[in-house]
Amino acid sequence: MVTTHNLGFPRIGRNRELKFALESYWKGQTSLKELHQSGVALRQQHWQLQSHLDYVPVGEFSFYDHVLDMSFTLGNLPERIQHFHGEKLDNYFRAARGRSVNLATEHAQCCGGVAAGEMTKWFDTNYHYIVPEFTQATEFNLDPSRLIDQINEARQEGVNGKPVIIGPVTYLALGKSKDGIDTLQLLPQLLIAYQELLKVLAYNKVEWVQIDEPILVTELSSDWQQALVTAYQSFSSIPVKLLLTTYFGQLAENISIISKLPVAGIHIDAINGFNDIQILLKYLSSQQVLSIGIIDGRNIWKTDFDSLLNWLEPIAKELGERLWIAPSSSLLHVPVDLDNEKSLDNEIVTWLSFATQKLKELSIIAQALNAGRESVKEELLNNKAAMDSRANSTRVNNILVREKLNTLNANAGHRQSPYEKRQILQKALLQLPEFPTTTIGSFPQTNTIRQVRKMYKFGDMSKADYTQAMFDEITHCVREQENLGLDVLVHGEAERNDMVEYFGEQLNGYIFSQFGWVQSYGSRCVKPPILYGDIDRPYPMTVDWIKYAQSITAKPMKGMLTGPVTMLNWSFVRNDQPRSLTCKQLALAIRDEVLDLEKAGISVIQIDEAALREGLPLRKSQWQDYLNWAVECYRISANDVKDETQIHTHMCYSEFNDIIEAIAGMDADVITIETSRSDMELLDVFEHFNYPNEIGPGVYDIHSPNIPTVEQIVNLMNKATERISRERLWVNPDCGLKTRQWSEVTPALINMVAAAKLLRQQN
Ligand code: GLN
Ligand code: ZN
Repeated sequence: MVTTHNLGFPRIGRNRELKFALESYWKGQTSLKELHQSGVALRQQHWQLQSHLDYVPVGEFSFYDHVLDMSFTLGNLPERIQHFHGEKLDNYFRAARGRSVNLATEHAQCCGGVAAGEMTKWFDTNYHYIVPEFTQATEFNLDPSRLIDQINEARQEGVNGKPVIIGPVTYLALGKSKDGIDTLQLLPQLLIAYQELLKVLAYNKVEWVQIDEPILVTELSSDWQQALVTAYQSFSSIPVKLLLTTYFGQLAENISIISKLPVAGIHIDAINGFNDIQILLKYLSSQQVLSIGIIDGRNIWKTDFDSLLNWLEPIAKELGERLWIAPSSSLLHVPVDLDNEKSLDNEIVTWLSFATQKLKELSIIAQALNAGRESVKEELLNNKAAMDSRANSTRVNNILVREKLNTLNANAGHRQSPYEKRQILQKALLQLPEFPTTTIGSFPQTNTIRQVRKMYKFGDMSKADYTQAMFDEITHCVREQENLGLDVLVHGEAERNDMVEYFGEQLNGYIFSQFGWVQSYGSRCVKPPILYGDIDRPYPMTVDWIKYAQSITAKPMKGMLTGPVTMLNWSFVRNDQPRSLTCKQLALAIRDEVLDLEKAGISVIQIDEAALREGLPLRKSQWQDYLNWAVECYRISANDVKDETQIHTHMCYSEFNDIIEAIAGMDADVITIETSRSDMELLDVFEHFNYPNEIGPGVYDIHSPNIPTVEQIVNLMNKATERISRERLWVNPDCGLKTRQWSEVTPALINMVAAAKLLRQQN
């Protein structure tokens, strides 16, 4: 008999209950007790939804982040919160977000705000965790109470719980040394805490522990490999079974490490590491369990039962009782329940599966393995019908798009002339001063703007009225920019709710769920659009807005688009063709838009690639392949224009050291990046690499309500001139201004323009 289990359930709740419970607690509207009750209720619900499995995960529920939970379990709290009194959970929120309840509390004086924990992306997902901090003084003090409480709760619910913890080596590897300490030095003490934890779990009659070591799908140096061996050998005498769990990629060379570890079982991700299975089968001892992640924990498509069973059945025969099956990773990365969706397209909805449905798929596969395919005949037939409908749908396969891709000529993606020549023509056309000023695209999204968009969306406003209202917003935004004295203007993006959704909604091949929320960090969720079919742009998407904006000003108006790589990386994309091909289709659609803007007389066009870096594979050895096709797609979208047309791109980061050549290869005339918070240190890369084109290092941190002074901006730009010659520098904020208020933006931009004037006078 095969065993079914799950690695982690989305904690946010099917109606985002966790988000609302957290936010009302933080606003001081509800009590800590009520927040705890919401947590209990959510866990109960989630266990009930999973009760058909042999083992359900326990302890992966989190009020903010599971890595921060682990830090608290291990007693590794940042020094800045150690002196606080009061409730543990309040301190936990301080560590996460710098504060707990926003209102004055009895501890307001002594326990006010502190620096928030640093956040970074969890492997190659869009989930962000709070980075553990390590110093020479780091000590671990085990506090297993959260886990033990939840184990007991699960028992009361009558489910078979399997506690989930992050393994010691991944925990260390994801952390950051704050004082230069080599974090591996902390391993011996850390292992003592883990040993204690495992003993406590054993004492509490826990049978299996899921211990996550996703670091095993990355390239590890020999001392980190050795750390794994040391760690797991030190656990071998503790009477609890460990399921060493990896996901998101291939183990590849690390199989030789994993096979040395004395653990009772291993979980691997068959979606992203299929080739590991056969090799691992040879290495397993006759006692070890192999858990195979057969259902995609990162995407929203139904599993193809037939093709899965074809390869899984022989393995099930070989392993017998030792085969476990599960989703490939925690289901944290997919929405909770497809049944919530009432208005999704009737056909497409039959191709999809969210967390709740994925676990049902798991049980059907288990039944097919245990009792034969006949025992789930109907389910298999239904599944096949869905697979066939998806594969043959004319909405997925659009011959015209395929033909267009095939006829793309070899020159596509290459500007007609090199930058040096383009730059002369662009200078003559645009007549910009030295240190030209611009913004990244969006201006404050006021309540009125949101209201108007909402009314239009729900049919409460006519198209004509909506267009007029948006034209009014554009006019206001353009006049403000003229008054500020900016050089290259934008229309303000009032018509856009989100930079991917706005374009996706107008492209064939995309649909949008109503409740498909996925946690991004803390209480924040995103609702990634679903890219299901060949991408086609039936009509221009932005031209009317930009054309209008240009018509009311003599200054150059910048057309704003989202680039193909960002569209791809922020969507759930199809799994029936390579990502690179999907990206190329997106590139064609954006290219058509670029050319239409150019035809409409727009001579500056910005193509945002906010998320280009996010698509980098986990293994460095695979970076170049990704960068090759990602940059090619960007180039196809941008570079078919005339020499005179100035192409900008924008990226929401400036850690370029490792990818600078690829960035230069995009050949944008101007690139704007985020740099203000790092005091321009992130520009260090330009000391060694001669970036050939123009660059706008952000001088205004738009994530903060603070208003930069003229002096600060001048100083930042002076630092930039140490690395990049002044005739190639632009002056602009770090990112779009949509989350800010006009009352902040206006003075900040006044200072920015004044700073540019001062810079022009300096020589
Ligand atoms: N043009 C977008 C804006 O200004 C860019 C946003 C982003 O880079 N995330 O809002
Ligand atoms: Zn940005």
